[in-house]
Amino acid sequence: MIELDQVQKSYQVGGRAIPALHSTSLTIETGEVFGIVGHSGAGKSTLVRLINLLERPTNGRVLVDGENVTHYDAAELRAFRRRVGMIFQHFNLLSSRTVADNIAFPMKLAGIYSKQQIRERVAELLALVSLTDQGNKYPSQLSGGQKQRVGIARALACRPTILLCDEATSALDPQTTQSVLRLLADINRELGLTIVLITHEMDVVRRICDRVAVMDGGRVVEMGPVTDVFLHP
Ligand code: ADP
Ligand code: ADP
Repeated sequence: MIELDQVQKSYQVGGRAIPALHSTSLTIETGEVFGIVGHSGAGKSTLVRLINLLERPTNGRVLVDGENVTHYDAAELRAFRRRVGMIFQHFNLLSSRTVADNIAFPMKLAGIYSKQQIRERVAELLALVSLTDQGNKYPSQLSGGQKQRVGIARALACRPTILLCDEATSALDPQTTQSVLRLLADINRELGLTIVLITHEMDVVRRICDRVAVMDGGRVVEMGPVTDVFLHP
């Protein structure tokens, strides 16, 4: 469970505090798929960066599974990051490394896994995302959908309980989007992962999200089950 308790975020720009997120309280339940929609500049990325502690709140508290993570130190942060995976619009793969090495990368960075553990986990993840025979290829040799599947495998490497998706299907064609969404839905169902998903695509929200928050001007202006928020006149 992710809780934002009166979280507020301002960025310091040229000595001035620019508000990006006004005081916001919300709860994302364990195992749900939670969508965040809104125009550019609405505060969606800020909200997500507050969940994985890429940004610290100016005020308020962020709690994950009941634990206040707001003031974690560097060591606590390293451990916490393993609990939160992230995937991106442009995949952010390392082009000079193979698919298998890209997936292994967060495990190596963590420094707590043996070579054997990494090898086994990479093989398991390649199978999970249907890329078993592609481990020795380079990202440039893959299609967009395959690249995002590598991104998903990498995000899952350290067995996170939360997966953050920032416009993860925005660079993909509709058919590829469907297959990536199916994979995310399977992961949500089978691994019980909580998924928080930023998107500007209403179709994505309708297909996969349980609940959605609509953001505007640094505020959550509407929040609820997708059917309540989008299907009334
Ligand atoms: P969205 O993801 O919905 O496009 P953001 O969270 O990126 O919105 O941005 C919200 C507001 O905060 C915008 O006005 C944006 O310009 C500002 N902002 C975002 N990141 C920074 C930053 N690192 N420094 C200063 N201002 C920022
Ligand atoms: P390093 O150069 O750091 O020793 P390697 O290049 O040998 O690492 O491999 C990186 C990790 O990915 C290793 O754990 C390796 O076992 C694993 N790996 C490499 N290729 C594959 C593959 N095709 N399938 C599964 N795991 C792989």
